[in-house]
Amino acid sequence: MNSSSIGRRQALRLLAGAAAAPWLLRHGRALAGLDYPFALGIASGDPAPDGFVIWTRLAQLPLYPGNEQRLPERIALNWEVAEDASFRRVVQRGQTSSLRLRGHAVHVELRGLQPGRDYWYRFIGLGEISPVGRGLTLPALGATPDSLHLAVASCAHWERGYFSAYRHMAEERPDLTLFLGDYIYEYSLTAGTPGLVRPYGAPEATELAGYRYRYALHHSDPDLQALHAAAPCIATWDDHEVQDDYSGETSKLPGVDPAAFNRRRAAAYQAFLENLPVRRVPIGANGLPQIYRQFQYGNLASLPLLDGRQYRSRQPCYAAPDFGKGHLEKAACQDLADPQRTLLGFQQERWLDQQLRNSEARWNLIAQDLLVAPLRIPGPGHAEDRYWTDNWDGFQAGRMRLLKGLHDSRAANPVILSGDYHSFWANHLHLEPENPDSPLVAAEFVGTSITSNGPSYEAVQALLPNNPQIRFYDSRPRGYLSLQLRLQQLDVQMQAISDRADPKASVSTLKRFTLENGDSTLHDA
Ligand code: FE
Ligand code: CA
Repeated sequence: MNSSSIGRRQALRLLAGAAAAPWLLRHGRALAGLDYPFALGIASGDPAPDGFVIWTRLAQLPLYPGNEQRLPERIALNWEVAEDASFRRVVQRGQTSSLRLRGHAVHVELRGLQPGRDYWYRFIGLGEISPVGRGLTLPALGATPDSLHLAVASCAHWERGYFSAYRHMAEERPDLTLFLGDYIYEYSLTAGTPGLVRPYGAPEATELAGYRYRYALHHSDPDLQALHAAAPCIATWDDHEVQDDYSGETSKLPGVDPAAFNRRRAAAYQAFLENLPVRRVPIGANGLPQIYRQFQYGNLASLPLLDGRQYRSRQPCYAAPDFGKGHLEKAACQDLADPQRTLLGFQQERWLDQQLRNSEARWNLIAQDLLVAPLRIPGPGHAEDRYWTDNWDGFQAGRMRLLKGLHDSRAANPVILSGDYHSFWANHLHLEPENPDSPLVAAEFVGTSITSNGPSYEAVQALLPNNPQIRFYDSRPRGYLSLQLRLQQLDVQMQAISDRADPKASVSTLKRFTLENGDSTLHDA
């Protein structure tokens, strides 16, 4: 770093400390003649008691087609971590570099920090300084924090609207943000589609460059940048990080060679890991990254985070032998109850069981991508009843194992947090999930989408008399879940934004539920 860039850094320090608004920082033009290289913002994630991941990704506009080739192969960067937002008390500094090979994404895994407190971080490079982000370390193991404030997001289809829900999540300044899948969408709407607010401007992503572009576009959004700057995130994926309704090794399209589909998955998974502040993950037996993992918020909460896509059996009872997509399937379909079929994969099932059995946390928040509660759709006769196959209803034996595992583990206060359905739900999960007289095992909350289209309100409301386990359903608003967890109580607010087509949309609370320690019964508040 030369003296003129130090000067710029000092000049920008006040701005950076005052607000994490990247547009304020674009005054400084880079020495290398690039546009502002931190235009995709910064993020932190995967916190531990002694550190967390800090992330950025260098990019040059325009974002499409892929810009990586226009940046040097390697760019040196510095990073700083401070105890205060104005960086008067810097506690760690280091050097790293962004590589073209990694899409110029940068992950630094911080260690040696104090547990249970806020930190601020930023990157410096190419004569510029990044926006400032707030990170946090988890409480020490064995500590008993008073509370945990979580904001939960899923399903942000860029084309369907602005990310006001992300902005309102940021304004809550939660302790942690959870992303439960469909952080991007792989496909593009055709021009003229009603409700298309802002086009992706690229064909469907099938290769690394296409996936990288979509993440770059999302990261260019000021509301998503504000959210990542405000709080650390913990993220898993659902289907649209790869392809709509895919199931393990099977594409939803007929005739796709599994090896070709595996290459597509590998590229998509790589782009996800490049673009979210996730720690280095192990490579599984299938040669692909294993992202299910667990977080511990002192004694207050254990947070296992699941992967509901990578290890699944193919969709049930599809006519063709080697492919399948989500569809309505008759209750008589033998696959639904086949114990050889799995949604999590048997290895992940065992891992989760172990986490639950070992958990000493007051609350066990199981974060994953798909609706767990059954939704039986009555047919003309009982034999004609149907289920949607792309979520846990398509893997009913696996769901029985999940619920029995929750019950038998005696893990305290299990709560399931889910995405994918683009609608708010509050559900009772019973040991026999369609028998409300069987033991109540857990409560489930499903957040709506950040922007994606919701399913029919009336059609699902009409099913509720036949599905007493569903205590609440509303698909009309877009938004997110806001959770306040304390030793004695969990408070869940369903936060609705006024209009996804309005970049300045307001937020209001649609519905509020509480759970008391020791009882999975939902109370509306
Ligand atoms: Fe979605
Ligand atoms: Ca989905």
